[in-house]
Amino acid sequence: MSATVNRQIVRIDEERCTGCGLCVSPCAEGAIEIVDGKAKVIREELCDGAGFCLGVCPTGALTIEVREALPFDHEAAEPIIAEKQKTYIPQRCFKCDADEDQVPLVPVCQQGRSEWVCTRCLPALIHG
Ligand code: SF4
Repeated sequence: MSATVNRQIVRIDEERCTGCGLCVSPCAEGAIEIVDGKAKVIREELCDGAGFCLGVCPTGALTIEVREALPFDHEAAEPIIAEKQKTYIPQRCFKCDADEDQVPLVPVCQQGRSEWVCTRCLPALIHG
């Protein structure tokens, strides 16, 4: 087993998690699964801590923390990423409904809601 390192990794607040499953698809590495009705990081070496799951969580259950964890395992993640690319569901901009195949999306948090917004709509969101 690899030695642990101090690094960013997803933290799931089980009290807030409803088990809706929305965070499973954005995790390209397949690190999150729903187990007994709650989201879980099933193998921490598959979580790169990038936080793409954060933007879809409707309850704010997902955050990034820095803690001791197994290092991210690129070799283990690559075949999972390749497999998921065949079945992934593109996320959509909550403002204009464009999907991530049309324009890059970024996660935003607004009035307690986590959403995806495209880079075309982001300036208007920032500047009003
Ligand atoms: S999106 Fe949030 S509430 Fe839904 S399963 Fe994931 S952590 Fe739980």
